[in-house]
Amino acid sequence: MKDENCIFCKILAGDIPSYQIYEDDDFKVILDVGPASRGHALIIPKEHYKNLYELPEELAAKAFVLGKKLITALTEILGCDGYNLVQNNGEVAGQTVDHFHLHLIPRYEGDDARVGWNPGSLDPSEAEELMALIKSDPAFS
Ligand code: AMP
Ligand code: ZN
Repeated sequence: MKDENCIFCKILAGDIPSYQIYEDDDFKVILDVGPASRGHALIIPKEHYKNLYELPEELAAKAFVLGKKLITALTEILGCDGYNLVQNNGEVAGQTVDHFHLHLIPRYEGDDARVGWNPGSLDPSEAEELMALIKSDPAFS
């Protein structure tokens, strides 16, 4: 499955150059051209799926297992101090390329990468309302 308007499909097809650091049957892994930190890479499935909602469960599982394998090796290679794995779904969530990808973002002591949010405070009444709402769905009961 390919999307002719998708930049990652074009990279996967070799129509656009990339810095590919890894490949297996299901994925290519490339360096991000707009890195949050030194060594920021992207796990990209070879088939076009828009986001995690559309990605088959088997590939979702494989992507995370691959992420574990790669960050284990890359932590040693890059000499980083930690890792963020980030995955955006939808424009409102920061997704800019509509082809599923998993960000591997190395973190270094004192770096200026920004991956995070401003913590709020969970109001007990809101928590109760959320619990009732979510637990009313068969998937969560
Ligand atoms: P997201 O905002 O989660 O959709 O992430 C898309 C990522 O793709 C961004 O971090 C971009 O820097 C990266 N990106 C866009 N075009 C390319 C490209 N041609 N090669 C490598 N990375 C890219
Ligand atoms: Zn694509």
